[in-house]
Amino acid sequence: MKEGKPEMESVKSAESIHDGGRQNLAQGSAQPVVELHDVQVTYPGDIVALEHISLKVQAGDFLGLIGPNGAGKSTLLSVIVGLVKPTAGYVKLFGAPVSAESLRKVGFVPQTPHTKDWNFPATVYETVLLGRVPLSNHFPWFDAEDHAKAAQALERLGIGDLRRRSINELSGGQLQRVFTAKALVGDPQLLIFDEPTSGVDAHAKSEFYSILEHLNKDLGITTILSLHDIGVVTRLAKTIVCVNRTLYFDGKTKDFDAGSILSRAYGYPIEVVEHGEHP
Ligand code: ADP
Ligand code: MG
Repeated sequence: MKEGKPEMESVKSAESIHDGGRQNLAQGSAQPVVELHDVQVTYPGDIVALEHISLKVQAGDFLGLIGPNGAGKSTLLSVIVGLVKPTAGYVKLFGAPVSAESLRKVGFVPQTPHTKDWNFPATVYETVLLGRVPLSNHFPWFDAEDHAKAAQALERLGIGDLRRRSINELSGGQLQRVFTAKALVGDPQLLIFDEPTSGVDAHAKSEFYSILEHLNKDLGITTILSLHDIGVVTRLAKTIVCVNRTLYFDGKTKDFDAGSILSRAYGYPIEVVEHGEHP
């Protein structure tokens, strides 16, 4: 894909192939997609990263997770995907404890993968296909459905033309799309992004946010996005969670009083740059 040219046409055309998380919305909000109950995480050395965190994420939500550096955002996301076990409290994914089965419905894009040295001889297509491993019955062989899903995910991210490229050669923005396609290839009902656009240029960022909005609005995929840019979060997210070890806010974006909440959570006044109206 040429950086700088919107590729949303291919994103739209892929919609007809599959209606993915749409069922999500149809099922209503009877059962939260994620539930944290009085979660505490203490790392070795008595570092209390999170305490008394209780929250629910409803199906179809677009949740913006904010908080200063070291606030526990990555820890919170790691708890949801079972990479970090709470030292107290509990987590439920789709109404059940986190398990290999519930994680099959989750696509997770960890923090800044593009800052690592990807000295790994994989093409874009192979990387995306690896997202099918948890669903594949006969890995290392992939079947026709796996290949169809990989092609569809590439289309949805507008990177079909990069499929044969080595992931070492890509820009930060392109790599971010590859990892998003890899997270999407298993038809997740929940997508989680941990500060996905650090190191990505401004234009590629705004295109990436449009794709996230599309995945949430049109495919109904519940989305959790941790992001530094509070102006973007308040524009994209339907609900906001603000943490700094404990919860400072958990509610609808329209009820988020940035001035008072952020100065309490960050310990100093924060100026929010507005990027547009709330959706
Ligand atoms: P954020 O993503 O908001 O920047 P993190 O969840 O990465 O915050 O970190 C929260 C706190 O936990 C910080 O004080 C950090 O230093 C600490 N921390 C994170 N991971 C570990 C770890 N594996 N071992 C010890 N301390 C950690
Ligand atoms: Mg983090």
